[in-house]
Amino acid sequence: MNRSLVNIKTLARDELKADLVKTGLKSYRADQVLQWIYKKHALSFGEMTNIATAEREMLASRFAIPVLSVLHEERSTDGARKYLFGLEDGHTIESVLIPDEDRLTLCISSQVGCRQACRFCLTAKGGFTRNLRSWEISDQVLMVSRILKEEGGRGITNIVLMGMGEPLANFDEVLKALQVITSGRGLGFSPRRVTLSTAGLVPFIDALGKSGVKVNLAISLNASTDEVRDRLMPVNKRWPLKELLAACRRFPLEPRRRITFEYVLLKGVNDSEGDALRVAKMLKGIRGKVNLIPFNPFPGSEYDRPGEKTVRRFQQILLDHRYVAPVRESRGRDISAACGQLRERAIEALDAATDEGRGRREEGEKRCTPPSS
Ligand code: SAH
Repeated sequence: MNRSLVNIKTLARDELKADLVKTGLKSYRADQVLQWIYKKHALSFGEMTNIATAEREMLASRFAIPVLSVLHEERSTDGARKYLFGLEDGHTIESVLIPDEDRLTLCISSQVGCRQACRFCLTAKGGFTRNLRSWEISDQVLMVSRILKEEGGRGITNIVLMGMGEPLANFDEVLKALQVITSGRGLGFSPRRVTLSTAGLVPFIDALGKSGVKVNLAISLNASTDEVRDRLMPVNKRWPLKELLAACRRFPLEPRRRITFEYVLLKGVNDSEGDALRVAKMLKGIRGKVNLIPFNPFPGSEYDRPGEKTVRRFQQILLDHRYVAPVRESRGRDISAACGQLRERAIEALDAATDEGRGRREEGEKRCTPPSS
């Protein structure tokens, strides 16, 4: 992007209006421009044919419309697709598109890497590089929508912030992105179709509740005792289960909505009957459901997935306690078995192929904060 230009995607609607008025354009042009960008997927001002040529030229001399570049698309035999996006500074992120009968869910990233250092997570192994800017978060949705529209198939129905990164550790930019994603002047998704998943950053769970952005909340629970959760998720040492669950209890839920508790089942670690009973007990009084996710192994991972019988037994205990508790299989396992793996592989391929890739990798590594487990 030309540095002297303003990235139009960093301006809120009101800021854009004010800016246009300052340059002598009518403020309603802002909504026209936003409609071109978010609804008609325009990539340049030249395409905005209901705006006079002179005004389009003025816009182009002041603003840029940057986009994430699609570096790679991989398709799974189960219908899932992974997209690898390139950022302006050479880093990469990924999004995963997951079809099921009535939904087409896009799983998006909120950071390059992650600082949470969860022991079962591949993204954590690479450490943290940087926060995504708000437009880099919402643009994952825009670019995949654009691809789907060109193909003429159905569009995205649901969005989950469950890709790389901890969304609540990048709170301000994630909130701005959610505003673009859920605004009628932006991407126009109903907030009930958007879910933010967190490892449990308690003050920011409260802040999300107060923000007025009424997206769904998912909590990565993953253990039934502080002892085990401390080991799996270092964030628990800062905000242990009692505080996390208290934050869930005071989270302002819309009518008929529930908090989703994700529980990655790790063989012999958190998958016993006792664990299931403790989970059922600790969630009492919270309007919640439990998504059970058998661990998705990756090369070098130190955990295994439990057998089918163990998974079903765990599920049955929760069902007996009247929780909704579906078992969720990770999708797209044949294309890149775990979250973050596509990016890992792409970086390795770049490293192997080019000196430039090697340089980039080294630079990336210098900036990483190694997970402190
Ligand atoms: N940082 C956020 C969102 C990213 S992780 C969070 O912690 O919620 C999204 C989900 O993937 C989390 O529920 C996490 O527990 C789960 N997950 C991470 N690695 C996994 C693996 N190898 N197998 C199965 N689920 C995994």
